[in-house]
Amino acid sequence: MAIKNSTGRRNMTVQKRKTFVLCVMSVAALLLLGGRVGYLMIFCSEHYTALATDLHERERDIKAARGRIIDSTGTVLADNKTVCTISVIHSQIKEPDKVIEMLCRELGLSEEYVRKRVEKYSARERIKSNVDKEIGDRIRNYDMAGVKVDEDYKRYYPYDDLASKVLGFTGGDNQGIIGLEVTYEKYLTGKKGQILTLTDAKGIELDGMGERRKEPQAGKDLYVSLDVNIQRYAAQLAKQAYETKQAAGVSIIVMNVNNGEILAMVDVPEFHLNEPYTLIEEFRLQGEGDNENESTQDLLNQMWRNGCINDTYEPGSTFKIITAAAGLESGAVRLEDNFSCPGFIIVDDRKIRCHKVAGHGAEDFTHAVMNSCNPVFIMVGLRIGVERYYEYFTKFGLKQKTGIDLPGEAGTIMHQLDKIGEVELATISFGQSFQITPVRLMTTVAGLINGGKLVTPHFGVKAANADGTSVDEFVYPVSEGIVSSETTDKLKYVLEQVVENGGGKNGYVEGFRIGGKTATSQTLPRGSGRYIASFLGFAPADDPKIMALAIIDTPQGTYYGGQIAAPVVRQLFENILPYLEEIGYE
Ligand SMILES: [Zn+2]
Repeated sequence: MAIKNSTGRRNMTVQKRKTFVLCVMSVAALLLLGGRVGYLMIFCSEHYTALATDLHERERDIKAARGRIIDSTGTVLADNKTVCTISVIHSQIKEPDKVIEMLCRELGLSEEYVRKRVEKYSARERIKSNVDKEIGDRIRNYDMAGVKVDEDYKRYYPYDDLASKVLGFTGGDNQGIIGLEVTYEKYLTGKKGQILTLTDAKGIELDGMGERRKEPQAGKDLYVSLDVNIQRYAAQLAKQAYETKQAAGVSIIVMNVNNGEILAMVDVPEFHLNEPYTLIEEFRLQGEGDNENESTQDLLNQMWRNGCINDTYEPGSTFKIITAAAGLESGAVRLEDNFSCPGFIIVDDRKIRCHKVAGHGAEDFTHAVMNSCNPVFIMVGLRIGVERYYEYFTKFGLKQKTGIDLPGEAGTIMHQLDKIGEVELATISFGQSFQITPVRLMTTVAGLINGGKLVTPHFGVKAANADGTSVDEFVYPVSEGIVSSETTDKLKYVLEQVVENGGGKNGYVEGFRIGGKTATSQTLPRGSGRYIASFLGFAPADDPKIMALAIIDTPQGTYYGGQIAAPVVRQLFENILPYLEEIGYE
């Protein structure tokens, strides 16, 4: 409308001039911007490329809860404790003095230590880890900008030194170091989660940009055959024998004869699972005494050793069960065969003595077993002959490891077949001149008295998620037919006689039928005057279910297996046999 009058015309001229000015200014601005862009592109490209790449998501791991270890009664033997890691992010801190004061007070740290970290310009500075959850929660509740509380898991063993050498423990990254914690690592360990955060060019987390979390996946719980009640009682008996006999060590194993499940495994002295790198008194003293040069690591390794599986020994007379089995199975001897023991026997010009110097006189094989008469076992061994004996040794699994589900099982130390002459055979027949682990001896004897099934001793029963889903049941190899059922029956009978009327009578438990065999062997090298006393017992004698082996290493004073080891198994059985009946153990 304004265009139609003169005033409008004048206005139009003004408008045109304004437009012209605007155009000129725009062109100038464009030129300037272009120049700036050109400048940036040409001269600063490196800087901006780096900045763009650095603006990315940073990942932080969230540890997964490790699976628990749970015994046959449902008791948790290895658990997790929630602990916290406290850190600060410099760029986000608004009131540094308040933060420093609070962290010093809550964490019991010096101001100098905390200030250095709070004032450090870094992405994320850790102040303290392994902080109790309670303290961590309190710190979080202050809600101070730049203070971060992350939750983490730490392995925790509620019974501390119970079954320490079986359970084992975990290292700094929560991975198994020894024991079941190592064997079942792949089930116990979970999958790490992640926190994704946006960071700026300098790697500083940007607050308020939101984090994305990938939740961790907990490991599976491991269910084991150990029974906390039996383990505790066996540990108590072993400690008692260890102290009263001032022994170098005491081991007790309790096993299910028919399937190889281990109900208890004790090897005193045990160590503290919650402080596995602290030497217990015995080893601390050792480090100060004669062996001053031994490194702490060597002493720790010794302290962690499980004598039941990691070490071999000369079994002595408990091994006569194997010679009896080979003799009966091969037909080389019958229970009613008659022998005579004058107190020694001459083999290849070598005089080998019976433990009864005056001799056992006339005795049948049953009584020779009850008397643990060395000359008779030597005669039976010689009747079997080197090659046949070696065949049974092999068939009974004695040359192989048992395959127990613990790391570091030691192998048998045995003569080579072509190195066995009559003297070697004679000594092998009563359990000398070779070495096996306690668990090897036990597993073979179990096979001989359970009808000929060579089982695999084990702890692991199954692994499952905490909610009971995704179950892995473990199956173990069994080889059948290592002896006939007739031989098993004869062995059960004669070994019950040993406890009823022979050298094992201190293993007798009123109201129960017990079979067993004692042993008193020398520690090697021979002639040191140091002995190993042991007793292997099983019940019920006519239908064996449970077997226990007690070994007392280097007892002071009386050292005979029948006198000091048999009573340990008797006390154990007096307690656990009624208990097993009560819980209906099969
Ligand atoms: Zn004799």
